[in-house]
Amino acid sequence: MTVKDVIAPSADDLRQDILRHLTFTMGKDADHASVYDWRMALSFAIRDRIVEPWFAATKQTWEQGRKRVYYLSMEFLIGRILEDAAINLGLRAAAREAIEGMGQSWSAVVEDEPDAALGNGGLGRLAACYMESMATLGCPGYGYGIRYEHGLFKQRFEGGRQVEAPEDWLKQRHPWEFERPEAAYEIGFKGAVEMRAGKAVWIPSETVLAEAFDMPVIGWKGRWANTLRLWSAKPTTMFDLARFNHGDYAAAAEPEALARTLSRVLYPDDTTYQGKELRLKQEYFLTAAALHDIIRRHLAGGYRLEDLPAHVAIQMNDTHPAIAGPELVRILVDLYGMSFEQAIEIAVKCLGYTNHTLLPEALERWACYLMGSVLPRHMQIIEQIDAWHLKTNPNRPHYVGVVKHQEVRMGELAFITAHKVNGVSALHTKLIKQNLFPELDTLHPGRIVNQTNGITPRRWLRMSNPALSRLITETIGEGWEADLDKLRALEPHVEDPGFRDDFADAKRRNKDALANWIAREQGIKIDPAAMFDVQIKRIHEYKRQLLNILQTIAQWHEIRENPQADYQPRVKIFGGKAAPGYQTAKEIIRLINDVATVVNADPLVGDRLRIVYPANYNVSMAERLIPAADLSEQISTAGKEASGTGNMKFALNGALTIGTLDGANVEIREEVGAENFFLFGLTASEVMERRKDPEHARHAILQSQALQDVLQMIAEGRFSPDEPTRYHGLVHNMWHSDYFLCASDFEAYRAAQVEVDRAFADPERWWRMAALNTARMGFFSSDRAIQGYMTEIWGTESAL
Ligand SMILES: *Cc1c(COP(=O)(O)O)cnc(C)c1O
Repeated sequence: MTVKDVIAPSADDLRQDILRHLTFTMGKDADHASVYDWRMALSFAIRDRIVEPWFAATKQTWEQGRKRVYYLSMEFLIGRILEDAAINLGLRAAAREAIEGMGQSWSAVVEDEPDAALGNGGLGRLAACYMESMATLGCPGYGYGIRYEHGLFKQRFEGGRQVEAPEDWLKQRHPWEFERPEAAYEIGFKGAVEMRAGKAVWIPSETVLAEAFDMPVIGWKGRWANTLRLWSAKPTTMFDLARFNHGDYAAAAEPEALARTLSRVLYPDDTTYQGKELRLKQEYFLTAAALHDIIRRHLAGGYRLEDLPAHVAIQMNDTHPAIAGPELVRILVDLYGMSFEQAIEIAVKCLGYTNHTLLPEALERWACYLMGSVLPRHMQIIEQIDAWHLKTNPNRPHYVGVVKHQEVRMGELAFITAHKVNGVSALHTKLIKQNLFPELDTLHPGRIVNQTNGITPRRWLRMSNPALSRLITETIGEGWEADLDKLRALEPHVEDPGFRDDFADAKRRNKDALANWIAREQGIKIDPAAMFDVQIKRIHEYKRQLLNILQTIAQWHEIRENPQADYQPRVKIFGGKAAPGYQTAKEIIRLINDVATVVNADPLVGDRLRIVYPANYNVSMAERLIPAADLSEQISTAGKEASGTGNMKFALNGALTIGTLDGANVEIREEVGAENFFLFGLTASEVMERRKDPEHARHAILQSQALQDVLQMIAEGRFSPDEPTRYHGLVHNMWHSDYFLCASDFEAYRAAQVEVDRAFADPERWWRMAALNTARMGFFSSDRAIQGYMTEIWGTESAL
């Protein structure tokens, strides 16, 4: 049996399937079904059509003895699944017709699905895009993650302040997962290591069961499907009936509660590392369950463990699963009697490590006492790996190594146990070599490689932007969804005024829809003809939402001072969550909301400047905002954003970027052309230079009257009249520290915004630039990225 293109069903076929599931799966008749019932029935009807290609792909992989890729990630920021699956199966139109034919609203049904928010931001979303591209390319593989009961918290604003509420995506039945009670492994923690007949034996004192839940991941046109296997923690010791019968109800349920905490919540922080025991246990839980599963599958194929690297490629998404090296060595040595030397050699051949950050506060380091207590055998193996590395690399400087200052450094561990280490943009990879691992790079030339991030064009263009997708297909024909370089064929059309009008119309339709949504949700009326200037991403000082709001205040001030001048009306749109413990980020959120309150109520400004900040930014909101954006804010301090993927989504959807030379911005600008990108700000090396001046902030502020005025207004309480001192700390920090150089880049940013205004005032120029952005973004497809991983890191080929 080989895989084939699925045959799209008719709306009538689907209608039958939906009604069947409504009746027999949901137990409802059409007259009494709720939106939820319809959504479930539709999901099951679509899911049914994934199963066949899913089985076929699995079968083919077994029969052909293909190498599989295992993508280990603590986060998968999936979002909604229904519409994406329908599109990849080629049946969105039919499904819509069927649903509407039965009197239901398509958008209501689709939007009833909660986001699967098993991630914080870019890193988790990347994992989700990569799963989809692996399925599209026919790269046999599995994603391994944790089935968190509660994904990323929900954000509300109260008096402008972020308030977190727990997320509950599993409260309703989840139609896209299959429970696999038979795929369960016992995972140990703590205890002691004993020597028995010269062999180490780890006797854990705690155990939990990792139980698998599988989600099929269907590729474009349904030609291939892989599995995302998420682990859920269950108790190994059953409910204590004796205690229950004695009336001790709480104690009876204790083992269950204890085990379940392991997969209970996602850690809601994306940029700082906290040395918490529960987090270490979660990381080991995921990694150990995955490795057990991988070894079991390998042996079931009849292969020898010595041949593992020929059949298995394991990718570590950041250092979170970096215990994989020691765990694989432990399995091979302790459980299968292999020598350490042979085991570590096999591990290195199987493993790859993706580095996602240079921020020192995000680099994982575990205190040796904690590692030794939670994973005593692994601590021994880590020391053995470190010693082996030193022995095989006698030139290693004394300050380099895995275990230093009573800490295990996970970055070094991942580097040493992987055959390839990759950065996520050209600039980031260069900085890994220069600043993060220069000594290890010298010892292992060629191990560090680049794989610039990508995004899946199915979700981020075809699904979320039907208006533009239709125009593209009408203009250049089909096929661009799976071969994004084809968008280059749009280039000649950019000179055609008719095409530019159509391009602008598509954008306008998306802006109208967004304006309606904002009016409905926020009660704020915005003009769809205004420029939509969007910054959506996690709130972090390095991403510099502060720089944006400071410039916004300056703009407001300027309009008030000079109301007769000719301004391009703008809507500043912000979106993003702050880590619950990140006080500075929360202060920035509050400032944005405070400024919005004042500016939006100012009759002098009117439609010329509006600020909106819809709460609870997530994948679904990104799908709504990005197609409607005119301007994409990618303004991180140079050297701090490893790649970014939001930047790619915007440019692909015809938004122009205002940005620094950071992360993948550098490559985006090269691809779309410098003349179609609003560049400003210090470069990464200039940033390092600038920081050497301890008074850089004060000097920069004194150079800018506009910034002085802005800081003065904030300090006087113009945006916090009920509490004038609210932002004194923030203003003080601007004058005296400003580590992320908002002041140093302020005037350059303001000048670039003037350039943006000038371009927007000239529609012919603007739409030419915007269309060229779309036409030239092919490189940033996650298909290109995954193809790069396959050939340069995993050594696998497409099965299609
Ligand atoms: C793409 C995406 C991100 C990453 O955005 P950056 O601008 O690259 O930080 C974060 N969150 C969501 C919901 C996304 O879709």
